[in-house]
Amino acid sequence: MISKPLPGPGSNPELLRIAIESAANAIFITNGAGEIEWVNPAFESLTGYTEAEAIGRNPRILKSGRQQETLYEDLWKTVLSRRVWSGRLTNRHKSGRLYTVEQTITPICDDDGVITHFVAIHEDITARLASEAKVAYMAVHDYLTGLPNRYALDQRLDLELERSRRLGTRVGGLWVDLDNFKDVNDTFGHSFGDALLVAAGKRLARVCRGVDLTCRLGGDEFAIVMPDVEERTHVANLAERVVRAFSEPFEVDKQKIFISVSVGAAISEPDRTSRSEFTKQADLALYSAKEGGRNGYRFFQGGMDARSQRRMNLGQDLHWAVKRDELFLEYQPQVGLDERRVVGTEALVRWQHPSLGVVAPMEFIPVAESSGLIKPIGDWVLEAACTQAKAWLANDDLPSLPVAVNVSAVQLREPRFAEHVLQILHDKDLPPEYLELELTERVLMDRSPMVERTLRTLHEFGVCISLDDFGKGYASLDYLRRYPLSKIKIDRSFVHDMESNAKNATIVTAVIDLAAKLKLTVIAEGVEPENLVRRLVTEGCEQVQGFYFSKPLPPKSVEELLTLGNDRIRANRPEAGRARPA
Ligand code: C2E
Ligand code: CA
Ligand code: CA
Repeated sequence: MISKPLPGPGSNPELLRIAIESAANAIFITNGAGEIEWVNPAFESLTGYTEAEAIGRNPRILKSGRQQETLYEDLWKTVLSRRVWSGRLTNRHKSGRLYTVEQTITPICDDDGVITHFVAIHEDITARLASEAKVAYMAVHDYLTGLPNRYALDQRLDLELERSRRLGTRVGGLWVDLDNFKDVNDTFGHSFGDALLVAAGKRLARVCRGVDLTCRLGGDEFAIVMPDVEERTHVANLAERVVRAFSEPFEVDKQKIFISVSVGAAISEPDRTSRSEFTKQADLALYSAKEGGRNGYRFFQGGMDARSQRRMNLGQDLHWAVKRDELFLEYQPQVGLDERRVVGTEALVRWQHPSLGVVAPMEFIPVAESSGLIKPIGDWVLEAACTQAKAWLANDDLPSLPVAVNVSAVQLREPRFAEHVLQILHDKDLPPEYLELELTERVLMDRSPMVERTLRTLHEFGVCISLDDFGKGYASLDYLRRYPLSKIKIDRSFVHDMESNAKNATIVTAVIDLAAKLKLTVIAEGVEPENLVRRLVTEGCEQVQGFYFSKPLPPKSVEELLTLGNDRIRANRPEAGRARPA
């Protein structure tokens, strides 16, 4: 309650008027009957009513109808008992739009204690509330897909697990990861990838029941939480529906694209599953689904722990592998069958893990591919192999041989891959014909014009391109015409049992014929017993690579093999002393 003139500026009415008129807050004064007598300019802009429109009216004109009547009752009770009221009010602008203010109403009394005026100050907090709401929304939603985010998932899981403890029900969870999403991103670009993620999120949400929570965990990983699960089959059914939903193509940027999903499924044990256990189990199940060939789902099982844990740990440790210089290369000789002499080598990467010993590429390359680490690792392999090839080339005691390097799909889809390779050749001063790149069919499958350009550039500069594991993947004869290939490597799975498996023998023979007609060099992989070598000679196969002649060797042993002459290759295995008829 104010009953005396204010001190300070109050003694200077002009100064007081300027201060009030220029205030950012809307201020109005009513008489004791509640009729507006005075408003400041901020009032006019906040409410939309001009001074002329407002004077003489009751502040009721500002009412939005959104406020509970009890609030006004409290307001009047307070001010009529000569106390200051403050609170939050949602009002209506003259145009009809709503706004929210923090309002203070101060009653002013004369010397007899009779209320003569009310002074109301309104601070517009509409924008602040909106941004607060936005921040609150963003805290629990994923910006891209609009789905709840990982934080929301954690909150919901805590809630559901707590409920399941009380009611003895179970919680189901599906961890969903798009297969080969990195490839899509690398090939079609990030905005395409983003659009695909949005569409995938929508599709997932559509498959679920209303009570399920679908969220995006980040990247191409989503999760679904199912409350009140009665039976395992309910979770399995949803997992199946999810996998099936992704058998239909997506349409992004007028392009149809197929992308499958891998799903890890987990169910809580009533009474004893914590959130961290639950998410770990779903994660492990997802890893297992990925390992199991993708495009499917797996439930968590006890035994998964160790194997998948190892894979996850490898993923962590792999970050250090290049930095700590833990990778090294071995070289497996490729042997020409006409003269039985080494005609080249294939560089194969190994990882000297600090505690696990030597880890095979079959185990860590897939981990590297799915984590993006394949780029630094692939670069390291390329440089190391070119350095080695150059050293051998510069050594007059050794024959000049090309070195083949395996290139992952992820590397080849880098827009500047060709330039990068040519730069390395230049830096190492290695003529391009001493480098061979081995690609698998997976890379060629999506017919990207960029990949085609990359291969053409490399081919024009003299780098030889060979198609690895031929027949194992999506073998299409179309690749052989379309891309500038020089060599086909027939996959081990056809070669190793061609003596006993007539079908495989037919395939090998057909590929050898085809390669001859297309003027491509052909090499058979995984050749172990001698009779296979003889058979391949008969079929007209030009080159072989396999344990029969040599396992992958450290560079020193390769040099030894080459200086001791190819006699040893001709006569027997590289292990000395075990003579074998030529
Ligand atoms: P790959 O390119 O098909 O390489 C041949 C694999 O077959 C090698 O396994 C080699 O040791 C094995 N091998 C060769 N001859 C025989 C044989 O007579 N019998 C049997 N049973 N196996 C034979 P390794 O070194 O374990 O490599 C496995 C795969 O890892 C490679 O298959 C390749 O796909 C990948 N890899 C290896 N090094 C690299 C690399 O630097 N970059 C990339 N992206 N992948 C690599
Ligand atoms: Ca290879
Ligand atoms: Ca191969």
